Amino acid sequence: MSIKIIPQKQLEQQASNSVIRQIPLLFFPSPQNIYVHRAKRLKTLATNNQFNDYLSFCAQIVELQANLAKQNSVNVDLSHLLNDKYPPLSLNNLPLSNVWQEYLNNLLSSITATTEQIALVIEQLKQNTAQQLHDKALHLLNGKFDCVDGNEALFIWSSLSVYYSQLASQIKGKAIAESTDKNCLCPVCNSMPVASIIQLGSNNGLRYLHCSLCESEWYVPRIKCTTCDNMKDIQYFSLDVELSATKTECCDACHSYLKILDQDKDPHIEIIADDIASLILDIKTEEEGFAKSGMNPFIFAQ
Ligand SMILES: [Zn+2]
Ligand SMILES: [Zn+2]
Repeated sequence: MSIKIIPQKQLEQQASNSVIRQIPLLFFPSPQNIYVHRAKRLKTLATNNQFNDYLSFCAQIVELQANLAKQNSVNVDLSHLLNDKYPPLSLNNLPLSNVWQEYLNNLLSSITATTEQIALVIEQLKQNTAQQLHDKALHLLNGKFDCVDGNEALFIWSSLSVYYSQLASQIKGKAIAESTDKNCLCPVCNSMPVASIIQLGSNNGLRYLHCSLCESEWYVPRIKCTTCDNMKDIQYFSLDVELSATKTECCDACHSYLKILDQDKDPHIEIIADDIASLILDIKTEEEGFAKSGMNPFIFAQ
């Protein structure tokens, strides 16, 4: 099953169509809340974690993202973007504008560099022309992460994400299920997931993948590899009982893994913050021979 977004009007016309599922297939993000919640969680996790300095640094960036979403909001008419061919915010459908670069400039001038290395990256980025930044952003959006320095990528992606999450929040469309098996990329912007999350309470333990770029969440059935759809011999690893709300879900068929975070076990979980804080679990899972099939916007491979 994969998910497609159609205009709300069209959905009303198709109201009797049997492919419309009763369970919510897609949640568009709420940028006004998401960054505030994330920054708070990062700060809490930083008080008792071996990566405390890094978590505090991430909290600082996320607080700036929260301010940007609040004070420099974008408002775009996106009604023409819903079509049968592409996810609405994919590059094929919506060429990249330069709006995100204003966010980057704002971020770079507001951040307090905590280390010499970060100060250097900020300086380096400020030297880039608009075209160079545009090219780097396109590499990242096309998944060519090794074409951009990992430290620069963090700032570029954080700025892109504020832009895309706002666009995603303004789409007036409804998700419907299609009978194909491609569900590993975001149906809104075509980016990789961070991890999957079992949402708190109301949705009866349904599992959703969370987009690393636009922050939308889309439904994927449980106990199933999110990359290749294999349902046999799925294994789960966790560090200990205390942390068991965070597990890695590992597939024996394609040897990939993705974290699954359970808000029913810990209602405070925030997907990006908790993914960073449980980095040791990634290392242990990779030692078992599995490769991560998602990406965290604060952890770019060098
Ligand atoms: Zn997305
Ligand atoms: Zn698989």
